[in-house]
Amino acid sequence: MKRQTSLKWKLCKYLMVFGFSILAVIFIFQNMLLEPMYEESKINAIKEVERNVEFGLQTDNFDGFITSMQTQSDTCIAVYQASGSTIAQSQNSSGCVLYSLSDKKISGYINKALESADHSHLAKLDMVPVSLTTGKEGSTFRTMIYTKIVDTAESNAVIMVAASITPLDATISTLSNQLYLITAVLALTILLYRKIVNPLIAITTNAKLLDTGVYHPTDRHDTYAEAVELDSTLARAAQNIHKADKAQRDLISNVSHDLRTPLTMISGYGEMMIDLPEEKTDENLQVIVDEAKRLNNLVNDLLDLSRLQENRIELKKEHFEINAFICEQMKKYEVYRVQDGFQFEVHLDDPSEVFADRIRLAQVFNNFVINAINYGGEAKHIIITQQRKEQVIRISIQDFGPGIAEKDIDNIWDRYYKVDQQHVRSSSGSGIGLAICRQLLELHGAEYGVDSRLQQGSTFWFELPIDTHRG
Ligand code: ADP
Repeated sequence: MKRQTSLKWKLCKYLMVFGFSILAVIFIFQNMLLEPMYEESKINAIKEVERNVEFGLQTDNFDGFITSMQTQSDTCIAVYQASGSTIAQSQNSSGCVLYSLSDKKISGYINKALESADHSHLAKLDMVPVSLTTGKEGSTFRTMIYTKIVDTAESNAVIMVAASITPLDATISTLSNQLYLITAVLALTILLYRKIVNPLIAITTNAKLLDTGVYHPTDRHDTYAEAVELDSTLARAAQNIHKADKAQRDLISNVSHDLRTPLTMISGYGEMMIDLPEEKTDENLQVIVDEAKRLNNLVNDLLDLSRLQENRIELKKEHFEINAFICEQMKKYEVYRVQDGFQFEVHLDDPSEVFADRIRLAQVFNNFVINAINYGGEAKHIIITQQRKEQVIRISIQDFGPGIAEKDIDNIWDRYYKVDQQHVRSSSGSGIGLAICRQLLELHGAEYGVDSRLQQGSTFWFELPIDTHRG
């Protein structure tokens, strides 16, 4: 699918193009058209003055007339007879270029005007002023002299109008400098725009496969803090998606495996007892009951986890003494000692009161003990300790089994995570027991963890604050 440009960037782009076009027009106008256009307008002004003088030829006070014309139009006017002698000239003639022209020059212009079809002539002179005081030359300026032969029944005269063109160099150079500055600012804006947008484009492109858990960080060097952060956040998100995806798949396979085992046992034993009535023994019935319990536990675990994830479990906290609690829980494991030869060592510091949800705490404690039984290996030796520290008690369950590899340690608290995907001992586990423990301990605000070394065993522990009002 084609990438859609956002309205903001589109507008920005159009404004840039618009800005550059305007700059280009100004640039062309300033450097190529300004002088010719100025000159053209000056020529028109001179011709206009000449036409006015033509109309004024019949005026009584003609000298006064051209003096005022000259002042109004910032020009210099002189009117001669066709032969060359002066008819009228401005009363204020100082600085007028026409009066410094030699007779020869004047007749030259008149001749040229006579030769032309409309009896007019425009001369352009580039002049260099020389300072009277210092004798230094000033910058060149252009003067235009327009000569027109007026040859009618009423009048026979030569009208000459001169005007200087003010040099535009200084103005043009100021405008040019401003133009360069604006262009530089615009170019900088574009550079900035690219610098901001490019990393985002790269990230967006890479994020297309994010929903499948794939994201390759852009690793660009021309980037900025926010983009780097976005890049690594997306990389982390992709990892989590990938992990959750894998966990989901593992769950289906684990749960179906864990459901199938007791179900197969229940249906197998049931069918056997139907086919062979003599097999209807208490022992076989017990197998069915045990497997049904296992199923029940698994379903309860799944329900618990989903309720915990939706924050639908509320703790029912109460005050109780922790040593009595441990001893009460340990009674359940007597059967393991008698039947399977497990050795349970219990070390308890002074009694301490805690304020916690007794049932949920038992769930955590039993999960740790059952795991120690299931993953404790051949040693069948489990140590349960209650250690009183300053403000907290630490409860630890230690086994001497194969331990947990460094790479798995951080993951065992995740949902559905099972090391090696196989149980060391038959259990109802589907890799969610520790995930439930974690959520319950966090709900209690308890510290928890595991210390484990390969081939040496593991110690799962949690800490609860001592209820100082009572303990
Ligand atoms: P399960 O239902 O598989 O026991 P848990 O969430 O209780 O699930 O434990 C997750 C995984 O952590 C187990 O599958 C096991 O690989 C590992 N584990 C838990 N307790 C221990 C232990 N005491 N020793 C070694 N590995 C353990």
